[in-house]
Amino acid sequence: MINENYDIVIGLEVHSELSTKTKIFCSCPTEFGGEPNTHCCPVCMAMPGALPVLNEKVVEYAIKAGLATNCKIAETCKNDRKNYFYPDLPKSYQISQFDIPLCEDGYVEIDVNGNKKKIGLVRIHIEEDAGKLNHDPYGRGSLVDLNRAGVPLIEIVSKPDMSSVEEADIYLKKLKSILQYIEVSDCKMQEGSLRADVNVSVKKKGSTELGTRTEMKNMNSFKSISRAIEYEANRQIDVIENGGTVIQETLRWDDVSGKTFSMRDKENAQDYRYFPEPDLGLIKNSKEKIEEIRKLLPEMPEKRRERYVSEFNLPEYDANVLTMEKALSDMFEGATKICNNPKTVSNLMMSEVIGILNNKEMESSEIPFTAEQLGNLVILIDKGTISTSIAKKVLLEMFDNPAEPQKIIEEKGWIQISDEGAIKEVVLKILEANPASIADYKAGKDRALGFLVGQAMKETRGKANPQMLNKMFLEELNK
Ligand code: ADP
Ligand code: MG
Ligand code: ZN
Repeated sequence: MINENYDIVIGLEVHSELSTKTKIFCSCPTEFGGEPNTHCCPVCMAMPGALPVLNEKVVEYAIKAGLATNCKIAETCKNDRKNYFYPDLPKSYQISQFDIPLCEDGYVEIDVNGNKKKIGLVRIHIEEDAGKLNHDPYGRGSLVDLNRAGVPLIEIVSKPDMSSVEEADIYLKKLKSILQYIEVSDCKMQEGSLRADVNVSVKKKGSTELGTRTEMKNMNSFKSISRAIEYEANRQIDVIENGGTVIQETLRWDDVSGKTFSMRDKENAQDYRYFPEPDLGLIKNSKEKIEEIRKLLPEMPEKRRERYVSEFNLPEYDANVLTMEKALSDMFEGATKICNNPKTVSNLMMSEVIGILNNKEMESSEIPFTAEQLGNLVILIDKGTISTSIAKKVLLEMFDNPAEPQKIIEEKGWIQISDEGAIKEVVLKILEANPASIADYKAGKDRALGFLVGQAMKETRGKANPQMLNKMFLEELNK
């Protein structure tokens, strides 16, 4: 859809809320939601004279993120004040990091249709989140909620290394996956704990000089980001093709109209007057401390993927999908441990669980049943208590009313019919009602058998054992 005489260039600034228990400079909880202004204290409300104390866990989590993305970790760095006025920022400055970030010069490797590509990271720094404005829907004013003020963030700034909508999408998914694996952020995009500023420019195909970029702030859905990049690249190409020049500006993406709009603020001309934060000391990270943190890193997605192929014999593609998100991967391993049947667990997850998650627009971390329950479901299939098609119905039920699968099939009366007499009764009934299919079968049309089995399944509402049906139909037809 993009004019082939142009290249797109994309760089992302990703903000991720860290899942520490307490805020970055005080001991208030970081928990999402809550009655407005109930997770606050004099520090995060910026009362005069209140002093910040740096939460050590924040530094540890950010270093973990840096190590997992191949960054160099600063042995000494500091906090800086970024000054700007906005009603959700009570101090009128944000404590962030300016010239010396905690982590620098890393990369994230992505897999684009089987080709590996490294997306460079300029830096990862720590900073505090701002509060939130609740706008009165009738325009009578806005109320400030400071529960989020002081929640720790890392900002991960990529190099302008992505050159398609697809690459940006894969990069962001990979980054989310890494942050979830190392357990520093829950990355819930609807709650804003992962959001991205998306920078886009275009240039004539093959040119080495970067074009002027525009920036779309605070985006928190994969779908919108892809749509926004595509729209914005095309808009810029149109401007250039019509003899105009792209202006560097901050844009707002509107999901409803599918367009970008100029924010018309002085964002780009803004001078933040950064200066060192005088109320906090230097952050010192000894080599030993960095190595201790490195030891906390878990098995990462690539390693797991390789192991799934070698240990469980899964196809590369399935292994890739299952390891993309830690919650899915943990569920796969937990269920496999219970039932010892990785292939069926993988099939159910690939064909059903992921589909249901997509339909319900749920995150994999929100799956309401346990790995053990999924494993027990597979045991029921393996024992022949239920068929695979019933298992799919049980899974849907497990999403809506989580319970042990055994209990669900008992309550719903979904236990598979494997009784010879009962199966025979159904087979005879279906044969009697379909003389034409018998004739077709005898005339060599094998498809008639499938039709008859299907009718029997319908008759028993999916409960008949399909192998037994097949066998018994053949016996009767060949009599
Ligand atoms: P700022 O901090 O003012 O937003 P930076 O130079 O730090 O500016 O760049 C921010 C982001 O913009 C980075 O992620 C970078 O990769 C991206 N970027 C820079 N130049 C371009 C460009 N020409 N096209 C697309 N993205 C760009
Ligand atoms: Mg920016
Ligand atoms: Zn506080």
